[in-house]
Amino acid sequence: FGLSKIRNFSIIAHIDHGKSTLSDALLVRLGNITAAQRRDQAQQLDTLKVERERGITVKAQTASMLYQGEYLLNLIDTPGHVDFSYEVVRSLSSCQGALLLVDATQGVQAQTLTTFRAAQEAGIKVLPVVTKIDLPNAQVEDTIFSMAATFDLDPEHVLATSAKTGQGIDAVLETIVKHVPPPPSEWDAAAPLRARVLDSWYDPLRGVVCLVQCVDGVLAEGDRISTCHLMSGAAAAGAGQGGGDTTFSVQEVGLLTPAPVRTRSLWSGQVGYMIGGIKSVRQVLLGDTVIRAGTRKGASDEAPPPPLPLFAPCRPNLFASCFPLDGDDFATLLTAVERLALNDASLQVHRENSTMLGHGLRVGFLGLLHMEVFKQRLDDEFNMAVLVTAPNVPYIFRDRDTGAEVEIENLADWPEEKRRGVTQVLEPMVEATVITPEDCLGSMLTLLQDKRGTELDTKFIDGERVLLVYKLPWQEVVTDLHDKAKSISSGYASLTYRPIDPEPADLVLCEMAINTEVVGALSFVSHRSSVMRLGRDLAARLKKVIPRQQFEVVIQARLGAKPFARERIPPYRKDVLIKSGKTVGGGDPSRKRKLLDKQKEGKRRAKTVGKVQLPQSAFWALLSKD
Ligand code: GDP
Ligand code: MG
Repeated sequence: FGLSKIRNFSIIAHIDHGKSTLSDALLVRLGNITAAQRRDQAQQLDTLKVERERGITVKAQTASMLYQGEYLLNLIDTPGHVDFSYEVVRSLSSCQGALLLVDATQGVQAQTLTTFRAAQEAGIKVLPVVTKIDLPNAQVEDTIFSMAATFDLDPEHVLATSAKTGQGIDAVLETIVKHVPPPPSEWDAAAPLRARVLDSWYDPLRGVVCLVQCVDGVLAEGDRISTCHLMSGAAAAGAGQGGGDTTFSVQEVGLLTPAPVRTRSLWSGQVGYMIGGIKSVRQVLLGDTVIRAGTRKGASDEAPPPPLPLFAPCRPNLFASCFPLDGDDFATLLTAVERLALNDASLQVHRENSTMLGHGLRVGFLGLLHMEVFKQRLDDEFNMAVLVTAPNVPYIFRDRDTGAEVEIENLADWPEEKRRGVTQVLEPMVEATVITPEDCLGSMLTLLQDKRGTELDTKFIDGERVLLVYKLPWQEVVTDLHDKAKSISSGYASLTYRPIDPEPADLVLCEMAINTEVVGALSFVSHRSSVMRLGRDLAARLKKVIPRQQFEVVIQARLGAKPFARERIPPYRKDVLIKSGKTVGGGDPSRKRKLLDKQKEGKRRAKTVGKVQLPQSAFWALLSKD
C-alpha cells in the first residue's frame, strides 16, 4: 500500500454512545468479522479462546480493514484512561481523522466536547456522526442541529447512522476515504525504522504485546530493536532524548483484524502488533519510538533517527498509601502490587514507612476510578484486603525567595505553619466541562461555587441544557464532585476534567489524632476557610464508623498541633460469645465457630493503629457522602 491509500482514523464519543458497536458494524461491513460472529457472543468468546491458545490476547479494539480492494483503513482505538478523557489526545496524534459520534437519544455530552477539543488540538479532521437513529426515541434533527451549533459545523456534513441496522455505514466509509487525509508524505518506507508505541498490554504467555504504528522503514521479525523518546522539561536540558537501554528481539509482528494475523513485517503506514520478549509494560512506554538497536548510541557512522514527537506524558494525579490489613503481610502486598503494575504502566509505586501503620506502599493513580479499580483488583485477583488511605493530590511548594519548586506527594512532607512565610503552596487545578439540564442549573452553580470554582464559560447548547466550563481545585473535584453533580441532576449531568496549571492557594493541614496520637493517614489538606467545618465533620464521621473498643477513644482534629474539634467513643466490653445476656455455643460448637470466624473476618478488614482497630471506612470517611 502506498501511503496515499492508507487512512488512519479513530472513533471518539461519550461513554455508551456506541463506539464499540459502530466499530463492529464497520468490521462486519468490510468482512473482517461475520455478522454471525458479532451476533453470537458465545462464538466471539470462542474466537478469543482460540486466540489465547495461539498465545495472544487482544485488548485494543484496533483493526485494519481492506476497503474496495484498494484502501487500507486503520481504525485505531484510543486508549484514553476512563479517568481522563483528555488522554485521547495521546492516541489521536497517530490518526489523521476521527469520527465524532453522538447518540441520537442522548445528544452532545461532556465527553463529546472534550474529545472534540482533543481532536482539534491534535489538528486532525473531525467527521461528525449521529448514531442509534433506529431507536424510536432518537432525536436525529435536534442532535444534528445542536452538534452543528456546538462545534460550528455545517449540518449537511453530519452523517446519520445506525450500527444496529447498518443504515448509513457505507456513507461513513466513503466519507473516511474522501475526507480523512492520508498519512503525511514525510513518512518514508526507505528511511531507518521509526515506529510509535500506541498501546501495550501484558499477555501471560507471550509477555508484553505492543500496538505499534510504523512511521518510517520496516519493522520485521528477527530485528533487534530498542526504544527512545523525547524528554520534556528539565530532563531535556541534557541530550533531549531518553529511552530504554535494553534491546529486544522482535519475535512476531502482524496486523489486527482485530484477530491477529501474522505478517512477519510491518511497513511504513501500517498499524499492528509486536511481540518481543518484553517482560513488563514499563519497559516499553506508550508514545516511545521503536528504532533499530545500535542506531541510538551512534557507534556506527549511521546517525540515529530522532525520536517521534512524544504524546503528553501520563502522570499520576492522585496519591494514596496502601497497607496490608491485619492478617496479611507486606510481602504479599508487594508481590500483588508488582503483578498489577506489570499490566498498568500508569501505576506508580514507592515503598513507604509509617510509624503508625507500618510498611506500606505509596501509589500514584490517574484518578479516583483508577484507584478504586486497583483496590478491587487486589481483592478479586489476589484475595488481598488492603487498607487504602484517602487520596491526596500532589501539591507544589514554591520557595518565595528562590522560586524553586518541589512537588510533594505525601502530606507527611507538609511544611509547618512557621515555614509558610518562605514557602508558597500551589494546588493542582482542573478545567471542568459540565453539561447540565437547565432545571437544575441553580443547584449546579451552587455546587461548583462551594467547590471553590471559577466560571470560565456558560452557554446553552440546546433548548434545555447548559454547558458550564469552570476552573476548580483538583482536590475538591476528587472528593465527591462527580457523585454530587450526578445526584443533583438525577444522573443527567455529564462532566469531564483536564488538568491546567497549578495556582497558589491558602491551604492548611488538618491533623487527626486518635487518643492523642496523630494518624497521618487520616489528616487532610483544605482551604483555610473551610478547614474548621471539614475537621469537625470528619471527627463526627469517624465517631460513627470506628467501632467501640474496650477503652475510651478520643478523636481530635488539630490545626498546627492545637485541637479544635473533639469526639469521644465510650468504651464497650464486646464479647461475641455473649449475646443478650446468654452464653451462646455451650451446646452448638459449629455456631460458636461461625461467630468466631465472623469476628476474625471483621478483624481482617481492619487495621490496628496504636491499640485502636480502624476499619477501611474510617480512612475513607473524608470522601464518603452522607
Ligand atoms: P461505547 O461505550 O461507546 O463503546 O458504546 P457501545 O458500543 O457499547 O454501545 C452502548 C449501547 O448502545 C449498547 O447497548 C449497544 O447495543 C447500543 N447501541 C450502539 N449503537 C446502536 C445503534 O446504532 N442502535 C441501537 N439501537 N443501539 C445501539
Ligand atoms: Mg466500548
